[in-house]
Amino acid sequence: MLYTPEFFSQKEFYDIELMNSHLLYIIDKIRSYFGYVYEHVSCVIHCSNEPPKSKVHVAGSKHYQNEAVDFHINCKDRWGKVVEYQFVALEVANYLHFTTMWNDVGIGFYPEWNSPGFHLDWSPDKHREWQAKYVENADGNKIQVYTPVNYIFE
Ligand SMILES: [Zn+2]
Repeated sequence: MLYTPEFFSQKEFYDIELMNSHLLYIIDKIRSYFGYVYEHVSCVIHCSNEPPKSKVHVAGSKHYQNEAVDFHINCKDRWGKVVEYQFVALEVANYLHFTTMWNDVGIGFYPEWNSPGFHLDWSPDKHREWQAKYVENADGNKIQVYTPVNYIFE
């Protein structure tokens, strides 16, 4: 482990010493970004690296290679309103995009989880394609967002 996260402690990982440092850096920066923009932020890691014998994930999963985390983010806006998953997801996607970290990660969006969240793994040089699309915000106004081509917005 070459990078020591600012926002996560050792006990939040199965074995932080084995974790990929790039991934630790990226999840730490995502959490940091939310702290600038939102209030009462918590970023909860569901699972990180796992021993292969745990058989929690599919064979070959990046969780067994110390290169994946599953997490969700709870936060409120400046008016004290809980930020819904779809907007948290857009913030995560946009942050990764505009920092260009997007090129080096795989990310899964899981609105159907009990605590809707994300799978993030270290996958350098994927060079994913992006598209602009319009979505409706809470006030019914169309806003332009950039999402990966295969991103399902729901
Ligand atoms: Zn995962």
